[in-house]
Amino acid sequence: MSRVALVTGGSRGIGRATAIALADDGHKVAVNYARGADAAAAVVAEIGDAGGEAIAVGADVSDPDAVDTMMETVSTELGPIEILVNNAGITRDGLLMRMSLDDFDAVLATNLRSTFICTKAVLRGMLRSKWGRIVNVSSVSGIAGNPGQANYAASKAGVIGFSKSVAKEIGSRGLTVNVVAPGFVATDMTGELSDDVLSAAVSQTLVGRVGRAEEVAAMIKFLASEEAAYITGQVFRVDGGLSL
Ligand code: NAP
Repeated sequence: MSRVALVTGGSRGIGRATAIALADDGHKVAVNYARGADAAAAVVAEIGDAGGEAIAVGADVSDPDAVDTMMETVSTELGPIEILVNNAGITRDGLLMRMSLDDFDAVLATNLRSTFICTKAVLRGMLRSKWGRIVNVSSVSGIAGNPGQANYAASKAGVIGFSKSVAKEIGSRGLTVNVVAPGFVATDMTGELSDDVLSAAVSQTLVGRVGRAEEVAAMIKFLASEEAAYITGQVFRVDGGLSL
């Protein structure tokens, strides 16, 4: 069945792969971006070329007014949102002793506050239609912690607690809320890491390589499907066995 999906941060990396995967499943997809209008337009064009339907919607997802406008645009152009993927995220890494309050606040706002704002914005419509899938992108850093990522790990741990709580609030209403926690995935975000850091991370995986965005998108796509109706409040690691 074709649904309307919104993927935050859908213009690059894991969000891009997720938007394409959901469109491939027959869903209409809103591809959100903050600054990269060209990248989002390229994703929309790629989906269109493959016979799918998508629009690009710009909004800083940590800004409630911008999110309101985005939600209105998506509802008007595609219909009520039934699948929400809270994927937009940033890092501002540094050891705590040197981490500024600005870097803490910016990461919490983009990664966690946005998840609250976007989830709340779609919830009423999903409750009305008695069907909804919310998939929130966390990180193995949010489960295990990571030196240099106190802000990021706090935001991603927050996403997990938030998701489990909302899942408990709405579980009886035909809506599911789940979390995907990737390990190291080859995107612009990890492109900033040094070769030493990346090879240390790879050596901790069981599969001996970094992940591909499409491998995370496949899990998100499943959790957004009809078949995943009996799965809610769960955290799924897609990390090549890193966390073992
Ligand atoms: P990425 O390649 O850096 O892409 C980030 C995306 O988020 C872009 O589309 C960007 O859009 C968007 N974005 C950033 N700030 C935004 C804002 N304020 N409002 C709306 N969109 C915003 O990142 P990625 O690696 O694909 O990561 C995607 C998610 O997976 C993030 O939540 C990240 O924390 C998580 N994750 C990634 C890894 C990894 O190894 N890559 C591991 C664990 C978890 P613009 O270009 O327009 O700014």
